[in-house]
Amino acid sequence: MDKSLKPEKKRLFIYLLGISSAVTLLLLFFVWYVSLKGISSVSGIAGIIFSLIVAGFGLFLAFSTFIIVITMISGKQTKIARRMRGLVTRFLFPVVMRVAKILKVDRDKIIRSFIAVNNELVLESLIGKKVNNPLVLLPHCIQLEDCELKITKDILVCKKCGKCDIKGLANIAEKYKLNVSVATSGTIARRIVKETKPDIIIAVACERDLLSGIQDTYPLPVIGILNERPYGDCLNTKVNTNTIEKLIEKIYIGGNNG
Ligand code: SF4
Repeated sequence: MDKSLKPEKKRLFIYLLGISSAVTLLLLFFVWYVSLKGISSVSGIAGIIFSLIVAGFGLFLAFSTFIIVITMISGKQTKIARRMRGLVTRFLFPVVMRVAKILKVDRDKIIRSFIAVNNELVLESLIGKKVNNPLVLLPHCIQLEDCELKITKDILVCKKCGKCDIKGLANIAEKYKLNVSVATSGTIARRIVKETKPDIIIAVACERDLLSGIQDTYPLPVIGILNERPYGDCLNTKVNTNTIEKLIEKIYIGGNNG
């Protein structure tokens, strides 16, 4: 199984999420405590409204964190947890990153953990739904640097010499009649998404590009698969094609039934 799909990868993000929420709640309480007297002296009703807003936000944050943590620890899927992806991607992740920076936790480690959490939430959100048009989006560095072919939108241009993983991915594209495209930049990736109109993206990339892809394309679901970089960043990178094929079979062919 691909590293980004392994359950244990989620733990770091879950721990940091718990710490971040606790810190945010403490800050919230502090702000409420020091501001309430001043606001109430101007207007009693304003003080009550302020307290209600702070309490509502605090309860929402505590409840959301509790649901996400319980879901990730137990592995049990709940309807409410399926709706949490936006909250995690848009709001909680930046808070977690700030706390992680203070704690000096490696950025790539947190992103890998976040991707594992995101993947699980995406897979859960697909339960009982039919995927009609998945898109597999690849980074250009997965193609052999010396290959004379220019592979972008149509991966079937590949002559399947077997010197890079494009061959296996082209076989998957043929076998399942899928859109499998290579994006040379974020702009090209966005254009491919616009043209192919997928209902889910399986994206292969490094930590940084997967993170921006997941955040930029929200609410479109993205399952992130980390590439392998035996020759360093952005050069002749690799991917486990079995992982991609199994995912396709799970969400597209067999239906994601949990
Ligand atoms: S497998 Fe395809 S893309 Fe890769 S080097 Fe061979 S012809 Fe080029």
